[in-house]
Amino acid sequence: MISASHQLPDDGLDERIFLEALVDTTDAIFTAVRPDGTLVWLNHAFSRATGYSFQEAVGRKVWAFRLPAEQEQARAFFAEGDVSAEGSKFESRWLSKTGRTVHLSWTTRTLKNPDGSVHLRVGTAQDVTAERETEKRADHLSLLLDRSMDAIILVSLERRIIYCNQAACDLYRMTREEMLGQSNRIFIPETELERMIAFGDEVIRTERPVEIETWRRRGDGIRIPVSLRVTPLIDDSGKVTALASVSYDISDRLALEERERAAGERARLLADLVENLSDPVFHIRPDGTIGYVNSACERVYGHTPAEMMNKSSAMLRPNDRVGLMAKYIREVHASSSPVVIETEALHKNGQRIPMELRSTALRGDDGELRGIGAVVRDMTMQKQLENELRRAADTDALTGLSNRNRFGRIADAEVKRAARYGHGLAVLVCDIDHFKTVNDRHGHAGGDVALKQFAVIVSKCLRQPIDLLGRIGGEEFAILLPETGLEGAKRVAERIRTSLANAEIRHDGQMFGFTVSLGVSLYRDGETTVEHAIKRADEALYRAKANGRNRVEVEQD
Ligand code: GH3
Ligand code: MG
Ligand code: MG
Repeated sequence: MISASHQLPDDGLDERIFLEALVDTTDAIFTAVRPDGTLVWLNHAFSRATGYSFQEAVGRKVWAFRLPAEQEQARAFFAEGDVSAEGSKFESRWLSKTGRTVHLSWTTRTLKNPDGSVHLRVGTAQDVTAERETEKRADHLSLLLDRSMDAIILVSLERRIIYCNQAACDLYRMTREEMLGQSNRIFIPETELERMIAFGDEVIRTERPVEIETWRRRGDGIRIPVSLRVTPLIDDSGKVTALASVSYDISDRLALEERERAAGERARLLADLVENLSDPVFHIRPDGTIGYVNSACERVYGHTPAEMMNKSSAMLRPNDRVGLMAKYIREVHASSSPVVIETEALHKNGQRIPMELRSTALRGDDGELRGIGAVVRDMTMQKQLENELRRAADTDALTGLSNRNRFGRIADAEVKRAARYGHGLAVLVCDIDHFKTVNDRHGHAGGDVALKQFAVIVSKCLRQPIDLLGRIGGEEFAILLPETGLEGAKRVAERIRTSLANAEIRHDGQMFGFTVSLGVSLYRDGETTVEHAIKRADEALYRAKANGRNRVEVEQD
Protein backbone atom coordinates (compact mmCIF):
# COMPACT_ATOMS: atom_id res chain seq x y z
CA MET A 1 0.00 0.00 0.00
CA ILE A 2 2.98 2.29 0.04
CA SER A 3 4.32 3.54 -3.20
CA ALA A 4 7.26 1.91 -4.91
CA SER A 5 9.57 4.83 -4.26
CA HIS A 6 9.27 4.08 -0.54
CA GLN A 7 10.15 0.36 -0.92
CA LEU A 8 11.73 -1.05 2.27
CA PRO A 9 15.09 -2.72 2.01
CA ASP A 10 14.58 -6.45 1.42
CA ASP A 11 16.16 -7.75 4.61
CA GLY A 12 13.26 -9.93 5.79
CA LEU A 13 11.70 -7.19 8.04
CA ASP A 14 7.92 -7.50 8.18
CA GLU A 15 6.68 -4.31 6.58
CA ARG A 16 3.60 -4.15 8.74
CA ILE A 17 5.49 -4.41 12.04
CA PHE A 18 7.87 -1.78 10.83
CA LEU A 19 5.12 0.65 9.93
CA GLU A 20 3.21 0.12 13.17
CA ALA A 21 6.33 0.76 15.21
CA LEU A 22 6.98 3.86 13.17
CA VAL A 23 3.51 5.41 13.51
CA ASP A 24 3.46 4.77 17.26
CA THR A 25 6.81 6.42 17.93
CA THR A 26 6.19 9.61 15.93
CA ASP A 27 4.58 12.74 17.35
CA ALA A 28 2.51 12.99 14.22
CA ILE A 29 -1.09 11.85 14.45
CA PHE A 30 -2.24 9.24 11.96
CA THR A 31 -5.84 8.34 11.22
CA ALA A 32 -7.71 6.37 8.61
CA VAL A 33 -11.40 7.11 7.93
CA ARG A 34 -13.91 5.35 5.69
CA PRO A 35 -15.85 7.41 3.13
CA ASP A 36 -18.89 7.36 5.49
CA GLY A 37 -16.80 8.99 8.21
CA THR A 38 -16.14 5.94 10.38
CA LEU A 39 -12.78 6.08 12.11
CA VAL A 40 -11.07 2.77 11.42
CA TRP A 41 -7.53 3.38 12.51
CA LEU A 42 -5.46 5.77 14.65
CA ASN A 43 -2.08 5.83 16.34
CA HIS A 44 -0.81 6.60 19.86
CA ALA A 45 -0.23 10.25 19.01
CA PHE A 46 -3.97 10.61 18.33
CA SER A 47 -4.71 9.06 21.75
CA ARG A 48 -2.22 11.39 23.40
CA ALA A 49 -3.79 14.46 21.82
CA THR A 50 -7.46 13.55 22.31
CA GLY A 51 -7.35 11.26 25.35
CA TYR A 52 -9.34 8.54 23.51
CA SER A 53 -7.77 5.05 23.26
CA PHE A 54 -7.82 3.00 20.07
CA GLN A 55 -10.71 0.89 21.40
CA GLU A 56 -12.74 3.95 22.45
CA ALA A 57 -12.37 5.75 19.15
CA VAL A 58 -12.37 3.14 16.43
CA GLY A 59 -15.77 2.46 14.86
CA ARG A 60 -17.15 5.89 15.78
CA LYS A 61 -17.88 8.65 13.34
CA VAL A 62 -14.98 10.99 13.08
CA TRP A 63 -17.06 14.18 13.61
CA ALA A 64 -18.12 12.92 17.03
CA PHE A 65 -14.66 14.04 18.23
CA ARG A 66 -14.86 17.53 16.78
CA LEU A 67 -15.89 20.70 18.66
CA PRO A 68 -19.72 20.81 18.71
CA ALA A 69 -19.59 23.96 16.60
CA GLU A 70 -17.70 22.16 13.85
CA GLN A 71 -19.50 18.76 13.95
CA GLU A 72 -22.21 19.67 11.46
CA GLN A 73 -19.75 20.99 8.93
CA ALA A 74 -17.63 17.81 9.24
CA ARG A 75 -20.64 15.52 8.80
CA ALA A 76 -21.73 17.47 5.73
CA PHE A 77 -18.25 17.06 4.27
CA PHE A 78 -18.53 13.27 4.39
CA ALA A 79 -22.25 13.23 3.40
CA GLU A 80 -21.49 15.14 0.22
CA GLY A 81 -18.99 12.38 -0.57
CA ASP A 82 -16.44 14.95 -1.62
CA VAL A 83 -13.63 13.12 0.09
CA SER A 84 -11.47 12.78 -2.95
CA ALA A 85 -9.41 15.92 -2.54
CA GLU A 86 -5.75 14.97 -2.81
CA GLY A 87 -3.26 16.16 -0.24
CA SER A 88 -5.65 18.72 1.24
CA LYS A 89 -4.42 20.74 4.17
CA PHE A 90 -6.68 22.19 6.79
CA GLU A 91 -6.95 22.85 10.49
CA SER A 92 -9.75 21.55 12.68
CA ARG A 93 -10.66 21.75 16.31
CA TRP A 94 -11.25 18.63 18.32
CA LEU A 95 -12.70 18.06 21.77
CA SER A 96 -10.56 15.89 24.02
CA LYS A 97 -12.03 13.36 26.39
CA THR A 98 -11.38 15.82 29.24
CA GLY A 99 -13.15 18.65 27.35
CA ARG A 100 -10.01 20.46 26.16
CA THR A 101 -10.00 22.06 22.72
CA VAL A 102 -7.30 20.47 20.60
CA HIS A 103 -6.10 22.22 17.46
CA LEU A 104 -4.96 19.75 14.79
CA SER A 105 -3.31 20.77 11.58
CA TRP A 106 -4.05 18.12 8.94
CA THR A 107 -2.66 16.84 5.69
CA THR A 108 -4.94 14.20 4.18
CA ARG A 109 -5.05 12.11 1.12
CA THR A 110 -7.39 9.39 -0.19
CA LEU A 111 -6.60 5.80 -1.00
CA LYS A 112 -8.71 4.57 -3.92
CA ASN A 113 -10.10 1.22 -5.03
CA PRO A 114 -9.20 -0.10 -8.48
CA ASP A 115 -12.63 1.16 -9.73
CA GLY A 116 -11.68 4.69 -8.66
CA SER A 117 -13.99 4.88 -5.69
CA VAL A 118 -12.56 6.07 -2.39
CA HIS A 119 -11.40 3.26 -0.15
CA LEU A 120 -9.95 5.16 2.77
CA ARG A 121 -9.11 8.69 3.68
CA VAL A 122 -5.81 8.81 5.61
CA GLY A 123 -4.50 11.80 7.38
CA THR A 124 -1.55 12.96 9.44
CA ALA A 125 -1.87 15.85 11.81
CA GLN A 126 0.27 18.02 14.08
CA ASP A 127 -1.07 19.07 17.46
CA VAL A 128 -0.83 22.88 17.18
CA THR A 129 -2.89 23.59 20.30
CA ALA A 130 -0.01 25.25 22.15
CA GLU A 131 0.73 27.61 19.24
CA ARG A 132 -2.93 28.51 18.78
CA GLU A 133 -3.38 29.21 22.47
CA THR A 134 -0.31 31.36 22.53
CA GLU A 135 -1.64 33.21 19.53
CA LYS A 136 -5.01 33.58 21.18
CA ARG A 137 -3.36 34.85 24.33
CA ALA A 138 -1.37 37.24 22.23
CA ASP A 139 -4.58 38.32 20.51
CA HIS A 140 -6.25 38.88 23.85
CA LEU A 141 -3.20 40.68 25.09
CA SER A 142 -3.05 42.82 22.03
CA LEU A 143 -6.73 43.61 22.45
CA LEU A 144 -6.09 44.52 26.06
CA LEU A 145 -3.09 46.61 25.12
CA ASP A 146 -5.13 48.31 22.46
CA ARG A 147 -7.78 49.19 24.98
CA SER A 148 -5.28 50.52 27.49
CA MET A 149 -5.42 54.25 28.09
CA ASP A 150 -1.67 54.32 28.41
CA ALA A 151 0.40 54.51 25.27
CA ILE A 152 2.25 51.21 24.84
CA ILE A 153 5.10 50.79 22.42
CA LEU A 154 7.42 47.81 21.88
CA VAL A 155 10.83 48.45 20.41
CA SER A 156 13.42 45.94 19.31
CA LEU A 157 16.92 46.08 20.73
CA GLU A 158 17.79 48.20 17.70
CA ARG A 159 15.06 50.55 18.97
CA ARG A 160 12.76 49.96 16.01
CA ILE A 161 9.07 50.14 16.78
CA ILE A 162 7.55 46.66 16.52
CA TYR A 163 4.23 47.32 18.21
CA CYS A 164 2.15 50.29 19.25
CA ASN A 165 -1.36 50.45 20.65
CA GLN A 166 -4.16 52.87 19.84
CA ALA A 167 -3.39 55.08 22.85
CA ALA A 168 0.16 55.47 21.53
CA CYS A 169 -1.21 56.57 18.15
CA ASP A 170 -3.47 59.06 19.94
CA LEU A 171 -0.77 60.36 22.22
CA TYR A 172 1.86 60.80 19.55
CA ARG A 173 -0.55 61.84 16.78
CA MET A 174 0.71 59.20 14.34
CA THR A 175 -0.89 56.21 12.65
CA ARG A 176 0.35 52.67 13.23
CA GLU A 177 1.71 52.62 9.70
CA GLU A 178 3.72 55.77 10.39
CA MET A 179 5.22 54.24 13.51
CA LEU A 180 5.81 50.56 12.81
CA GLY A 181 9.34 49.80 11.65
CA GLN A 182 10.55 53.34 12.47
CA SER A 183 13.31 54.16 14.90
CA ASN A 184 11.93 55.33 18.22
CA ARG A 185 13.90 58.53 17.63
CA ILE A 186 10.84 59.88 15.84
CA PHE A 187 9.48 60.58 19.34
CA ILE A 188 12.63 61.80 20.96
CA PRO A 189 13.52 65.48 20.86
CA GLU A 190 17.18 66.24 20.07
CA THR A 191 17.76 67.51 23.61
CA GLU A 192 16.63 64.22 25.17
CA LEU A 193 18.36 61.85 22.76
CA GLU A 194 21.56 61.17 24.66
CA ARG A 195 19.71 60.69 27.91
CA MET A 196 17.17 58.32 26.36
CA ILE A 197 19.83 56.13 24.71
CA ALA A 198 21.59 55.79 28.07
CA PHE A 199 18.25 55.08 29.68
CA GLY A 200 17.41 52.25 27.24
CA ASP A 201 20.90 50.79 27.70
CA GLU A 202 20.39 50.82 31.44
CA VAL A 203 17.11 48.88 31.16
CA ILE A 204 18.79 46.25 28.96
CA ARG A 205 21.80 45.99 31.26
CA THR A 206 19.92 45.83 34.57
CA GLU A 207 16.99 43.86 33.10
CA ARG A 208 14.74 45.87 35.39
CA PRO A 209 11.91 48.27 34.62
CA VAL A 210 12.86 51.94 35.01
CA GLU A 211 10.69 55.02 35.18
CA ILE A 212 11.58 58.43 33.90
CA GLU A 213 9.91 61.75 33.14
CA THR A 214 10.96 63.15 29.83
CA TRP A 215 9.90 65.08 26.76
CA ARG A 216 8.52 63.50 23.61
CA ARG A 217 7.84 64.95 20.22
CA ARG A 218 4.47 64.24 18.66
CA GLY A 219 3.84 63.67 14.98
CA ASP A 220 2.68 67.28 14.70
CA GLY A 221 6.00 68.48 16.13
CA ILE A 222 4.63 69.57 19.51
CA ARG A 223 6.68 68.63 22.58
CA ILE A 224 4.82 67.05 25.47
CA PRO A 225 6.03 65.98 28.90
CA VAL A 226 5.47 62.28 29.55
CA SER A 227 6.04 59.76 32.26
CA LEU A 228 7.73 56.71 30.79
CA ARG A 229 8.07 53.23 32.25
CA VAL A 230 10.30 50.97 30.25
CA THR A 231 10.24 47.22 30.91
CA PRO A 232 12.62 44.71 29.36
CA LEU A 233 10.93 41.74 27.64
CA ILE A 234 12.91 38.63 28.48
CA ASP A 235 12.60 35.36 26.53
CA ASP A 236 12.75 31.80 27.88
CA SER A 237 16.51 31.74 27.62
CA GLY A 238 16.70 34.80 29.84
CA LYS A 239 17.79 37.23 27.12
CA VAL A 240 16.30 40.69 26.73
CA THR A 241 14.59 40.66 23.33
CA ALA A 242 12.68 43.91 23.28
CA LEU A 243 11.72 46.92 25.35
CA ALA A 244 8.14 47.72 26.24
CA SER A 245 7.41 51.33 27.11
CA VAL A 246 4.26 52.60 28.77
CA SER A 247 3.90 56.34 28.59
CA TYR A 248 1.31 58.90 29.51
CA ASP A 249 0.99 62.62 29.08
CA ILE A 250 1.77 64.50 32.29
CA SER A 251 1.07 68.04 30.99
CA ASP A 252 -2.01 68.29 33.17
CA ARG A 253 -0.21 66.95 36.19
CA LEU A 254 2.74 69.29 35.63
CA ALA A 255 0.37 72.21 35.14
CA LEU A 256 -1.40 71.29 38.36
CA GLU A 257 1.90 70.91 40.18
CA GLU A 258 3.01 74.25 38.81
CA ARG A 259 -0.24 75.85 39.95
CA GLU A 260 0.13 74.26 43.39
CA ARG A 261 3.76 75.32 43.57
CA ALA A 262 2.84 78.88 42.59
CA ALA A 263 -0.02 78.90 45.08
CA GLY A 264 2.29 77.54 47.77
CA GLU A 265 4.88 80.17 46.99
CA ARG A 266 2.22 82.88 47.06
CA ALA A 267 1.02 81.60 50.41
CA ARG A 268 4.59 81.57 51.75
CA LEU A 269 5.20 85.09 50.45
CA LEU A 270 1.99 86.29 52.03
CA ALA A 271 2.85 84.56 55.30
CA ASP A 272 6.27 86.24 55.23
CA LEU A 273 4.69 89.55 54.45
CA VAL A 274 2.13 89.25 57.23
CA GLU A 275 4.76 88.05 59.67
CA ASN A 276 6.91 91.09 58.93
CA LEU A 277 4.15 93.68 58.90
CA SER A 278 4.65 96.37 61.49
CA ASP A 279 0.92 96.29 62.24
CA PRO A 280 -0.42 93.43 64.36
CA VAL A 281 -2.45 90.87 62.41
CA PHE A 282 -4.75 88.27 63.94
CA HIS A 283 -6.84 85.35 62.87
CA ILE A 284 -9.66 84.94 65.36
CA ARG A 285 -11.48 81.62 65.06
CA PRO A 286 -15.28 81.47 65.11
CA ASP A 287 -15.09 80.37 68.78
CA GLY A 288 -13.19 83.58 69.61
CA THR A 289 -9.79 81.96 70.17
CA ILE A 290 -6.68 83.32 68.52
CA GLY A 291 -5.58 81.12 65.60
CA TYR A 292 -2.71 83.26 64.40
CA VAL A 293 -0.79 86.36 65.47
CA ASN A 294 2.21 87.95 63.83
CA SER A 295 5.25 89.13 65.74
CA ALA A 296 4.14 92.79 65.60
CA CYS A 297 1.48 91.90 68.15
CA GLU A 298 4.10 91.67 70.86
CA ARG A 299 5.12 95.30 70.40
CA VAL A 300 1.55 96.54 70.76
CA TYR A 301 0.10 94.11 73.29
CA GLY A 302 3.19 93.13 75.27
CA HIS A 303 2.30 89.41 75.03
CA THR A 304 4.48 87.13 72.89
CA PRO A 305 2.70 85.34 70.04
CA ALA A 306 3.06 82.09 72.02
CA GLU A 307 1.27 83.71 74.97
CA MET A 308 -1.62 84.73 72.72
CA MET A 309 -2.03 81.65 70.49
CA ASN A 310 -5.18 79.62 71.18
CA LYS A 311 -6.23 82.00 73.99
CA SER A 312 -9.50 83.87 73.90
CA SER A 313 -9.20 87.18 72.09
CA ALA A 314 -11.01 88.69 75.10
CA MET A 315 -7.59 88.89 76.79
CA LEU A 316 -6.75 91.74 74.42
CA ARG A 317 -9.55 94.12 75.32
CA PRO A 318 -10.47 96.13 78.41
CA ASN A 319 -13.49 94.79 80.32
CA ASP A 320 -15.63 97.78 79.46
CA ARG A 321 -15.16 97.11 75.73
CA VAL A 322 -16.35 93.48 75.71
CA GLY A 323 -19.97 94.31 74.80
CA LEU A 324 -18.90 96.75 72.11
CA MET A 325 -16.52 94.20 70.60
CA ALA A 326 -19.16 91.43 70.56
CA LYS A 327 -21.44 93.77 68.60
CA TYR A 328 -18.56 94.68 66.30
CA ILE A 329 -17.72 91.02 65.58
CA ARG A 330 -21.36 90.31 64.70
CA GLU A 331 -21.19 93.22 62.29
CA VAL A 332 -17.99 91.84 60.72
CA HIS A 333 -19.54 88.39 60.29
CA ALA A 334 -22.52 89.92 58.50
CA SER A 335 -20.43 92.08 56.17
CA SER A 336 -18.60 91.04 53.03
CA SER A 337 -16.15 93.94 53.25
CA PRO A 338 -13.74 95.03 55.99
CA VAL A 339 -15.29 96.79 58.98
CA VAL A 340 -13.27 99.46 60.77
CA ILE A 341 -13.64 100.51 64.39
CA GLU A 342 -11.67 102.80 66.67
CA THR A 343 -11.41 101.30 70.11
CA GLU A 344 -8.94 100.52 72.83
CA ALA A 345 -6.80 97.44 73.36
CA LEU A 346 -5.43 96.17 76.64
CA HIS A 347 -1.65 95.94 76.98
CA LYS A 348 -0.11 93.20 79.11
CA ASN A 349 0.88 95.90 81.63
CA GLY A 350 -2.79 96.96 81.99
CA GLN A 351 -2.44 100.13 79.95
CA ARG A 352 -5.11 100.98 77.41
CA ILE A 353 -3.90 101.53 73.89
CA PRO A 354 -5.94 103.53 71.40
CA MET A 355 -6.18 101.48 68.23
CA GLU A 356 -7.95 101.11 64.94
CA LEU A 357 -9.24 97.63 64.18
CA ARG A 358 -9.93 96.57 60.61
CA SER A 359 -11.57 93.13 60.36
CA THR A 360 -12.85 90.91 57.58
CA ALA A 361 -14.94 87.75 57.87
CA LEU A 362 -12.94 84.81 56.51
CA ARG A 363 -14.90 82.21 54.62
CA GLY A 364 -13.77 78.93 53.05
CA ASP A 365 -14.56 77.92 49.47
CA ASP A 366 -17.69 76.27 50.90
CA GLY A 367 -18.86 79.63 52.30
CA GLU A 368 -18.38 78.34 55.84
CA LEU A 369 -17.19 80.99 58.32
CA ARG A 370 -13.56 80.42 59.30
CA GLY A 371 -13.38 83.32 61.73
CA ILE A 372 -12.12 86.82 61.16
CA GLY A 373 -8.86 88.32 60.00
CA ALA A 374 -8.02 91.52 61.87
CA VAL A 375 -5.36 94.15 61.27
CA VAL A 376 -4.71 96.41 64.22
CA ARG A 377 -3.21 99.86 64.02
CA ASP A 378 -1.68 101.24 67.17
CA MET A 379 -3.12 104.75 67.32
CA THR A 380 -1.04 105.95 70.30
CA MET A 381 1.22 108.08 68.14
CA GLN A 382 -1.70 109.18 66.03
CA LYS A 383 -3.66 110.24 69.10
CA GLN A 384 -0.66 112.09 70.47
CA LEU A 385 -0.22 113.80 67.15
CA GLU A 386 -3.90 114.65 67.03
CA ASN A 387 -3.70 116.11 70.52
CA GLU A 388 -0.65 118.12 69.60
CA LEU A 389 -2.28 119.35 66.44
CA ARG A 390 -5.40 120.30 68.34
CA ARG A 391 -3.31 122.12 70.92
CA ALA A 392 -1.38 123.82 68.16
CA ALA A 393 -4.64 124.85 66.55
CA ASP A 394 -5.96 126.10 69.89
CA THR A 395 -2.88 127.70 71.34
CA ASP A 396 -1.00 130.85 70.60
CA ALA A 397 2.57 129.84 69.90
CA LEU A 398 4.20 132.97 71.34
CA THR A 399 2.49 133.19 74.69
CA GLY A 400 1.12 129.67 75.11
CA LEU A 401 -2.30 131.18 75.78
CA SER A 402 -5.57 130.03 74.23
CA ASN A 403 -6.08 131.60 70.84
CA ARG A 404 -9.26 133.30 69.72
CA ASN A 405 -10.74 129.99 68.62
CA ARG A 406 -10.30 128.12 71.81
CA PHE A 407 -11.16 131.14 73.93
CA GLY A 408 -14.42 131.47 72.00
CA ARG A 409 -15.25 127.78 72.37
CA ILE A 410 -14.65 127.67 76.11
CA ALA A 411 -16.26 131.03 76.68
CA ASP A 412 -19.38 129.92 74.77
CA ALA A 413 -19.60 126.83 77.00
CA GLU A 414 -19.29 129.11 80.04
CA VAL A 415 -22.05 131.33 78.65
CA LYS A 416 -24.32 128.28 78.50
CA ARG A 417 -23.36 127.27 82.02
CA ALA A 418 -24.04 130.81 83.29
CA ALA A 419 -27.41 130.74 81.51
CA ARG A 420 -28.33 127.40 83.05
CA TYR A 421 -27.25 128.16 86.63
CA GLY A 422 -27.91 131.91 86.60
CA HIS A 423 -24.29 132.68 87.49
CA GLY A 424 -22.64 135.98 86.72
CA LEU A 425 -19.97 135.91 84.02
CA ALA A 426 -17.59 138.82 83.37
CA VAL A 427 -15.47 139.52 80.33
CA LEU A 428 -12.41 141.77 80.18
CA VAL A 429 -10.79 142.98 76.98
CA CYS A 430 -7.26 144.30 77.33
CA ASP A 431 -5.08 146.13 74.79
CA ILE A 432 -1.48 147.23 75.21
CA ASP A 433 -1.02 151.00 74.97
CA HIS A 434 1.19 152.35 72.23
CA PHE A 435 2.56 148.96 71.46
CA LYS A 436 3.81 150.23 68.13
CA THR A 437 6.17 152.45 70.06
CA VAL A 438 7.39 149.45 72.10
CA ASN A 439 8.22 147.70 68.86
CA ASP A 440 9.82 150.80 67.48
CA ARG A 441 12.05 151.28 70.49
CA HIS A 442 12.97 147.72 71.36
CA GLY A 443 12.47 145.93 68.11
CA HIS A 444 9.92 143.28 67.28
CA ALA A 445 11.80 140.82 69.50
CA GLY A 446 11.47 143.25 72.40
CA GLY A 447 7.75 143.48 71.67
CA ASP A 448 7.52 139.67 71.77
CA VAL A 449 9.23 139.56 75.16
CA ALA A 450 6.69 142.09 76.39
CA LEU A 451 3.82 139.96 75.10
CA LYS A 452 5.19 136.86 76.84
CA GLN A 453 5.64 138.78 80.09
CA PHE A 454 2.10 140.06 79.74
CA ALA A 455 0.85 136.45 79.72
CA VAL A 456 2.87 135.54 82.82
CA ILE A 457 1.88 138.61 84.81
CA VAL A 458 -1.82 138.54 83.93
CA SER A 459 -2.07 134.80 84.65
CA LYS A 460 -0.86 135.51 88.17
CA CYS A 461 -3.74 137.94 88.66
CA LEU A 462 -6.31 135.24 87.79
CA ARG A 463 -7.84 132.22 89.55
CA GLN A 464 -6.37 129.04 88.18
CA PRO A 465 -7.93 127.14 86.53
CA ILE A 466 -11.28 128.92 86.71
CA ASP A 467 -10.49 132.10 84.81
CA LEU A 468 -9.46 131.97 81.19
CA LEU A 469 -6.98 134.24 79.43
CA GLY A 470 -6.83 134.26 75.62
CA ARG A 471 -4.92 136.18 73.00
CA ILE A 472 -7.58 137.39 70.60
CA GLY A 473 -5.46 139.78 68.51
CA GLY A 474 -1.87 141.01 68.11
CA GLU A 475 -1.61 142.84 71.46
CA GLU A 476 -5.21 142.34 72.42
CA PHE A 477 -6.35 139.84 75.04
CA ALA A 478 -9.65 138.67 76.49
CA ILE A 479 -10.25 137.37 80.00
CA LEU A 480 -13.22 135.29 81.07
CA LEU A 481 -14.16 135.45 84.74
CA PRO A 482 -16.85 132.86 85.54
CA GLU A 483 -19.17 133.44 88.48
CA THR A 484 -17.97 137.00 88.79
CA GLY A 485 -20.03 140.19 89.11
CA LEU A 486 -19.22 143.71 88.03
CA GLU A 487 -17.37 144.73 91.18
CA GLY A 488 -15.23 141.63 91.17
CA ALA A 489 -14.47 142.09 87.49
CA LYS A 490 -13.46 145.73 88.01
CA ARG A 491 -11.16 144.66 90.85
CA VAL A 492 -9.46 142.06 88.69
CA ALA A 493 -9.12 144.55 85.82
CA GLU A 494 -7.57 147.08 88.12
CA ARG A 495 -5.17 144.50 89.52
CA ILE A 496 -4.11 143.58 86.02
CA ARG A 497 -3.63 147.18 85.02
CA THR A 498 -1.45 148.04 88.02
CA SER A 499 0.54 144.78 87.90
CA LEU A 500 1.46 145.47 84.30
CA ALA A 501 2.15 149.15 84.84
CA ASN A 502 4.58 148.25 87.60
CA ALA A 503 6.30 145.48 85.67
CA GLU A 504 9.75 145.90 84.19
CA ILE A 505 10.59 144.11 81.00
CA ARG A 506 14.20 143.16 80.33
CA HIS A 507 15.39 142.83 76.82
CA ASP A 508 18.74 143.19 75.12
CA GLY A 509 20.29 144.78 78.23
CA GLN A 510 17.51 147.35 78.46
CA MET A 511 14.61 147.78 80.86
CA PHE A 512 11.25 149.10 79.83
CA GLY A 513 7.62 149.09 80.81
CA PHE A 514 4.20 149.37 79.26
CA THR A 515 0.64 150.04 80.26
CA VAL A 516 -2.69 148.57 79.19
CA SER A 517 -6.25 149.74 78.82
CA LEU A 518 -9.16 147.46 79.77
CA GLY A 519 -12.87 147.29 79.04
CA VAL A 520 -15.21 145.34 81.34
CA SER A 521 -18.60 143.80 80.49
CA LEU A 522 -21.02 141.23 81.94
CA TYR A 523 -22.90 138.43 80.32
CA ARG A 524 -26.55 139.31 79.89
CA ASP A 525 -29.52 136.92 80.08
CA GLY A 526 -30.63 135.54 76.73
CA GLU A 527 -27.18 135.71 75.14
CA THR A 528 -25.97 132.46 73.59
CA THR A 529 -22.39 133.36 72.71
CA VAL A 530 -19.67 135.36 74.34
CA GLU A 531 -19.31 137.65 71.32
CA HIS A 532 -21.94 140.11 72.57
CA ALA A 533 -20.12 140.61 75.86
CA ILE A 534 -16.77 140.96 74.09
CA LYS A 535 -18.22 143.59 71.81
CA ARG A 536 -19.45 145.63 74.79
CA ALA A 537 -16.11 145.23 76.57
CA ASP A 538 -14.39 146.41 73.37
CA GLU A 539 -16.51 149.54 73.35
CA ALA A 540 -15.53 150.19 76.96
CA LEU A 541 -11.87 149.59 75.99
CA TYR A 542 -12.22 152.12 73.20
CA ARG A 543 -13.39 154.65 75.74
CA ALA A 544 -10.48 153.79 78.05
CA LYS A 545 -8.11 154.53 75.17
CA ALA A 546 -9.98 157.72 74.37
CA ASN A 547 -9.87 158.77 77.98
CA GLY A 548 -6.11 158.65 78.13
CA ARG A 549 -5.12 154.93 78.25
CA ASN A 550 -3.76 152.96 81.26
CA ARG A 551 -7.30 152.80 82.65
CA VAL A 552 -10.29 150.55 83.13
CA GLU A 553 -13.70 151.40 81.71
CA VAL A 554 -16.94 149.50 82.27
CA GLU A 555 -19.61 148.87 79.63
CA GLN A 556 -22.50 151.24 79.43
CA ASP A 557 -26.14 150.12 79.45
P1 GH3 B 1 -2.94 151.93 70.98
O1 GH3 B 1 -2.54 152.46 72.30
O2 GH3 B 1 -3.92 152.79 70.29
O3 GH3 B 1 -3.45 150.53 71.09
O4 GH3 B 1 -1.65 151.94 70.12
P2 GH3 B 1 -0.95 150.73 69.45
O5 GH3 B 1 0.34 151.18 68.91
O6 GH3 B 1 -0.88 149.63 70.47
O7 GH3 B 1 -1.98 150.43 68.38
P3 GH3 B 1 -2.05 149.53 67.10
O8 GH3 B 1 -3.15 148.57 67.29
O9 GH3 B 1 -2.15 150.48 65.95
O10 GH3 B 1 -0.70 148.73 66.99
C1 GH3 B 1 -0.55 147.42 67.45
C2 GH3 B 1 0.83 146.99 67.13
O11 GH3 B 1 1.13 145.72 67.71
C3 GH3 B 1 1.04 146.83 65.68
C4 GH3 B 1 1.80 145.53 65.53
O12 GH3 B 1 3.02 145.70 64.86
C5 GH3 B 1 2.11 145.12 66.91
N1 GH3 B 1 2.02 143.71 67.06
C6 GH3 B 1 0.91 142.94 66.83
N2 GH3 B 1 1.23 141.63 67.08
C7 GH3 B 1 2.55 141.59 67.48
C8 GH3 B 1 3.42 140.55 67.87
O13 GH3 B 1 3.07 139.37 67.91
N3 GH3 B 1 4.68 140.89 68.26
C9 GH3 B 1 5.12 142.15 68.20
N4 GH3 B 1 6.36 142.43 68.57
N5 GH3 B 1 4.31 143.17 67.82
C10 GH3 B 1 3.04 142.90 67.47
MG1 MG C 1 -4.57 147.05 69.32
MG1 MG D 1 -2.45 148.87 71.46
